[in-house]
Amino acid sequence: MAVALELAKTDHTVVLLESGPRTWDRATQALNAPDDIRRGYNTLETRRRSLGGTFTIWGGRWMSLGSLDFLNRPWIPNSGWPFDRETLVPFYDRARQLFDTGFEDHSAAALANALARQLPLEGSGLTARLVERSNSAELIEAFTQRLAESPNVTVYLKANALGFELNPRGDRVVTVPFATLAGKRFELRSKVTVLATGGIENARLLLGSGLFGPSQDGPLVGAFFMDHPYVEIGPLRNPVRPTPDDFTVDGREERHLLKAHGMIAFQEDYLRQEQLVDCTAHFRLGPRFRHSDSYNSEGMVAARELSRHVRRREVPPYVGGLTWTVARNIPTVAGGGMRAVVDRARPRDAVGVRMMVEGSPVISSRILLGKTRDALGMRRAVVDWQQPEIDRRSATRFVELLSDLLEREGYGHLPSSSHDGWPGRILPGYHHMGATRMHEDPRHGVVDANAKMHAVDNLYVAGSSVFPTSGAANPTLTIAALAIRLADHLQTCL
Ligand SMILES: Cc1cc2nc3c(=O)[nH]c(=O)nc-3n(C[C@H](O)[C@H](O)[C@H](O)COP(=O)(O)OP(=O)(O)OC[C@H]3O[C@@H](n4cnc5c(N)ncnc54)[C@H](O)[C@@H]3O)c2cc1C
Repeated sequence: MAVALELAKTDHTVVLLESGPRTWDRATQALNAPDDIRRGYNTLETRRRSLGGTFTIWGGRWMSLGSLDFLNRPWIPNSGWPFDRETLVPFYDRARQLFDTGFEDHSAAALANALARQLPLEGSGLTARLVERSNSAELIEAFTQRLAESPNVTVYLKANALGFELNPRGDRVVTVPFATLAGKRFELRSKVTVLATGGIENARLLLGSGLFGPSQDGPLVGAFFMDHPYVEIGPLRNPVRPTPDDFTVDGREERHLLKAHGMIAFQEDYLRQEQLVDCTAHFRLGPRFRHSDSYNSEGMVAARELSRHVRRREVPPYVGGLTWTVARNIPTVAGGGMRAVVDRARPRDAVGVRMMVEGSPVISSRILLGKTRDALGMRRAVVDWQQPEIDRRSATRFVELLSDLLEREGYGHLPSSSHDGWPGRILPGYHHMGATRMHEDPRHGVVDANAKMHAVDNLYVAGSSVFPTSGAANPTLTIAALAIRLADHLQTCL
């Protein structure tokens, strides 16, 4: 959408193919289902097929990557972007304007510095960063309106791209075949195609078209898949004073900073010295149970997914799979339900920490094609998400530093626990990155620094699948900045 909104300002003709209708639709959403709904990474609940995409259900947090994230860090194999953060700053600011966060890069940095003074972070190995907020529902409405009013943009809904047909030399897209679920098939011919179907689907469509075999980008399409492991820790024990207001979100949000809140992060120098990946964390105010380990257990996650759908009056695809997961975990879910009821009667004043860990890039962490097919005959995705040891080690170190700092200042200490070497149970962050990674050298990346497929002259990729590294920041501000940069680039070559 961001690429189309930018090109709407030009006189180029733009056609946007969108798989979804305006709102959620069960049959369309089922196209996102994984190869095996009972096992592995859940590709169904972690994204959305409707106009506006996953943005329509997201958490509303905007964060930029830090300078170190763009550099080659010798202790993280395969790290480094083809450009530095400075290159992206003007596009970060244009993305902030588009999404109305109310900040610019320098004002966000200034507020983060001001927040940092609330905690004595000096010498702790930690620093403060800023999360900006904006209202996605209003924005989707405004963007849809803007596209509808643009004479040079046509949006086709329920139009599912099926892949690419290339010229005999295999270096130009000639047509993009697309189909509706009702069985109608069409072809789109354009000078340039931008693939922007989300971090998993970008790789799935390239792999599914069968054209990007080993002689082209084959071995790299789908490889280096990253997500952010999230760890929920808490509640803080034995506090003698409350955590600073501007670092706390949720319950206090309405009374305090509406547009932004603080995040604790590793200091860059500390990361270099200790050779770790980045981690960030924010405080969450709420009922005690939400911070516990069992809240994030398999059964409770499925129960929450079901209840989210019920609240939105949706019958999810594979409702049976979710129900079965809940049924298999009845003791945990029943116990969790009781605790939630008890918690409701108590003041919602427990403070926990939600940590986001940088997922580092490894070639064996991959999106592959499974054996089963969706309603359009396309092979479903299998996501084999792997987390290397450095990610676990960094998360554990981060919790130690944070807990020491909080305890020293009287905010309480974090409970310690360990799950497979992590400081708590991990959940995916629903940030699908890396599977069509950016690198100047076609041997190491699928797209070049302009997001053009190395092997194909008129095929570009937008979205977090181009990220070579993930940082410990929510991805969408960077996705939008790259999209705006891509739209600028397309104007120079169209
Ligand atoms: C619950 C949740 C909370 C989140 N919270 C945050 C947050 O707070 N901050 C943040 O930065 N990120 C957050 N994210 C991640 C964020 O939503 C995604 O990074 C972002 O939406 C990705 O944008 P995208 O346009 O690349 O992909 P998407 O938003 O997934 O959009 C892809 C679009 O392509 C369409 N499409 C797919 N396949 C086809 C096809 N074959 N043909 C035609 N169209 C197709 C889809 O219908 C969709 O409209 C969250 C994600 C989830 C699930």
